[in-house]
Amino acid sequence: MTRLSGITPSGPTHVGNYLGAVRRWTREGGPDDLYFVSDLHGMTTPYHPQKLRSRTRELLAILIAAGIEPDTVFVQSDLLHQLGPLTWVLECSCAFGEAARMTQFKEKSADRTHEGTPVRVGLFTYPVLMAADILLQGADEVPVGDDQAQHVELARVLARRFNSTYGDALVVPRAVTPPAGARIKDLTDPTRKMDKSARDAAGVLFVLDEPDLLRRKVKRAVTDSLGRLEYRPDHQPGLANLLEILAACQGKSPREVVAGYSSYGEVKDAVAEAVVEELRPLRERTSELLADPAELDRIRALGGERAAERGGHRLSTVLRLAGVG
Ligand code: ATP
Ligand code: MG
Repeated sequence: MTRLSGITPSGPTHVGNYLGAVRRWTREGGPDDLYFVSDLHGMTTPYHPQKLRSRTRELLAILIAAGIEPDTVFVQSDLLHQLGPLTWVLECSCAFGEAARMTQFKEKSADRTHEGTPVRVGLFTYPVLMAADILLQGADEVPVGDDQAQHVELARVLARRFNSTYGDALVVPRAVTPPAGARIKDLTDPTRKMDKSARDAAGVLFVLDEPDLLRRKVKRAVTDSLGRLEYRPDHQPGLANLLEILAACQGKSPREVVAGYSSYGEVKDAVAEAVVEELRPLRERTSELLADPAELDRIRALGGERAAERGGHRLSTVLRLAGVG
């Protein structure tokens, strides 16, 4: 049983990505699970090429440093030679109306229009590329949030359609809901989730931030003026968020951790130290990897080759059945 998870290098990795996704992958993942850095998905909206490249490297280093097995991780663009042809075959099996129905496209294209920047065709076809990501690796399950469930559904439809039209070649994947974990919120606006692509970094704890910067960001976190030390996400979202971060670092529940403190200041000190300590080994190992580009390249090539081996046979079958190549 193979589960496939991707993460886009759309910005520096934050503690929400780590506690909510990467750390779980290392703890709860099965031996056949696969992970990839979806750099191609980062091209669907305006981006800087050098930043995309360096963030891709950095994210790969973070995944390896976090403990994900090197031969189970790859960089999406390293498979461009296979993803390109498969995406084309799938685009030629996908109805325009099916792609046009994707709600994420509607939202994101509305954002672009609002900003006055052109909507890229790649933003429109990206769910088909995502289908190719999934189908090329033959993933059985794709853990995704609500925002991506529709894309996995499209991958299912396209796989079934290919199999019934041209012949059996593709594993029909299922979207699965990842185990509910705390959604870490932005420290300066606890009504919004912590986000890689947030405009203002003051409320975002990046995993590679220096300890002192992490401490400063936590000290400035928005709380409230009630002075009540309780875990009440609806009434005290800022404090609740801090307690959730602390709880995730300590492997406890927010209600358990709150009992030990008598002021917001104490909670913040505890959060700052817990985050600094939680991230210290990750930051150190990531810096070591980034300081040894040859080693990181070797790891990257290994993961890319493994992924291409898994995909190569399936792609040849698809092309043969589709009457091309
Ligand atoms: P973007 O702004 O580009 O969407 P993001 O921070 O939302 O960036 P994603 O690449 O969308 O990150 O998600 C990567 C993984 O991190 C997903 O599994 C997602 O559920 C998880 N994740 C993202 N943000 C949080 C958060 N604030 N708390 C917990 N998990 C999160
Ligand atoms: Mg996101």
